[in-house]
Amino acid sequence: MDRRSLFGTTATLGLGALAGCALPSVAQSGVKTPFNVAPTYIPIVGGELMFPVRRIYCIGRNYAAHAREMGSDPTREPPFFFQKPTDAIQYVAPGQVSDHPYPALTQNYHYEVELVAALQSGGRNIAMASALEHVYGYSLGLDMTRRDLQRALGDQKKPWEIGKSFDHSAPIGPLHRLAQTGHFTQGAIWLKVNGVMKQNANLNQMLWSVAEQISKLSEAFELMAGDIIYSGTPENVGPVVRGDVIDCHIDGLPNLSVKIV
Ligand code: MN
Repeated sequence: MDRRSLFGTTATLGLGALAGCALPSVAQSGVKTPFNVAPTYIPIVGGELMFPVRRIYCIGRNYAAHAREMGSDPTREPPFFFQKPTDAIQYVAPGQVSDHPYPALTQNYHYEVELVAALQSGGRNIAMASALEHVYGYSLGLDMTRRDLQRALGDQKKPWEIGKSFDHSAPIGPLHRLAQTGHFTQGAIWLKVNGVMKQNANLNQMLWSVAEQISKLSEAFELMAGDIIYSGTPENVGPVVRGDVIDCHIDGLPNLSVKIV
């Protein structure tokens, strides 16, 4: 591709975004590729629009009791972040139990139920006061974790990647537009395995609010439309095995259910 066609592509996508066209297609851009790579979308409730996912950010240890169970002091640590690959998304429709594959290489596969914020815009060094203006909507997600690998790699001072950022590691429900739900500053968040309550907390126990997460993240990365943020899990994470059914809940969102297969 020469410089002119690269600029042409950029201009096409930019104009599409300006015109409110959320889904510029590869065909529109005029780029020719030897094969297709599937983009990642999350269905948006109440219409036919799909949310195009650009990046998946996750915040670590954002509930004090969970930080303690992971062996750190929540009062002394600023928030930290990691990413999952975009195609780690596994969309889970409400009202059904979707199969979720038990991944290779782990013998301690953990659930983490989390509120997910989805951005419609972004920027760098976003002020706390305006951070929530960038939120398009919310969903409920699972930050599935190969805990044994996460811990082992951490102990060796190696990247967490293989423990957190693998295929299907980000189950998520449909996206609700802000107008449908408002912002989530409080409300029950829980997770059951085979009907037994495992995690049970309140969103108001987050150490860093969604606004603070956006502001802090934007100091390290330029946030953009299409970015989603897994906002951390409460205490009592734990393992699942094949055959287990996980049910997740956040007040104001439909439950999400997966069966480990
Ligand atoms: Mn998490």
